[in-house]
Amino acid sequence: MTTPPYIGRFAPTPSGYLHFGSLVAALASYLDARSVGGQWLLRMEDLDPPREIPGARDEILRSLEACGFEWDGAVLLQSERHNAYQEVVQHLLAQGLAYACTCSRKQLEGHGGIYPGTCRNANHAVAGAAIRIRVPELEYHFTDRVQGFYRQHLARDVGDFVIRRRDGLYAYQLAVVLDDAWQGMTDIVRGADLLDSTPRQLYLQELLGLPQPRYLHVPLIVQADGNKLGKSFRSPALPAAAAAAQLCRALRALGQQPPAGLDQATAQETLVWGTSHWQAERIPRQLHLAEQQLR
Ligand code: GLU
Ligand code: ZN
Repeated sequence: MTTPPYIGRFAPTPSGYLHFGSLVAALASYLDARSVGGQWLLRMEDLDPPREIPGARDEILRSLEACGFEWDGAVLLQSERHNAYQEVVQHLLAQGLAYACTCSRKQLEGHGGIYPGTCRNANHAVAGAAIRIRVPELEYHFTDRVQGFYRQHLARDVGDFVIRRRDGLYAYQLAVVLDDAWQGMTDIVRGADLLDSTPRQLYLQELLGLPQPRYLHVPLIVQADGNKLGKSFRSPALPAAAAAAQLCRALRALGQQPPAGLDQATAQETLVWGTSHWQAERIPRQLHLAEQQLR
């Protein structure tokens, strides 16, 4: 019997610790991969050093280990991929597909977050400028395995977007597309806060001749006030002691039905149960789940 090729990943940003919302994303990507005998890789999205919390990188790995997760191969660090990103930025500039933008934050105000195209034909020098990619007057769409059909008109809904910031840091949209392709990802399983990034990523894949993976966006866990957990809100790290209980709670958030008592098991046993009972069709088709409503 041949197993279908499947390569998935979890790609945390070390601007915060592993919190319950990121555990849900990690668990979903892990189970979706392992349930079909696929690979599960770990990538640290450390693109933005000023926003990192010192020690968060190791803390995330320790939390994942405490939850029994085992990843394939070494952790890929985006901070070690700058040459690859730079090469593509150069290529896009040379092709006229990207351009330098010198707009100040103030100049960008009042357009509802959509870049008005001010610098499109200005031919600004690249040094010290942000680099934006030209988007076409086209709709990009895909069918998410949980959220269903999703579409975005890039010019109207997004506008030319930044691939390298003026401070020289590479943008998530560019790095994620290059790394997902470079690591051979067949499946992207992540939080629904990234659903509206996906059309931009499809466009970059098309432009760069990269394969398009399947997508599955799990509900984002939000606080009572509707805010996303973690990251900017500095949610505390998960308590390691209660790993199995946290995993069971994450399983229930994903619509799975762990048996009573599984939260008394070890983290490893919980993952084994989750892997053999994984049913992605049961994931709630919702963009958000309120944390305090989860058992
Ligand atoms: N690094 C992103 C985050 O922590 C996830 C990126 C992705 O899965 O595409 O939200
Ligand atoms: Zn500009």
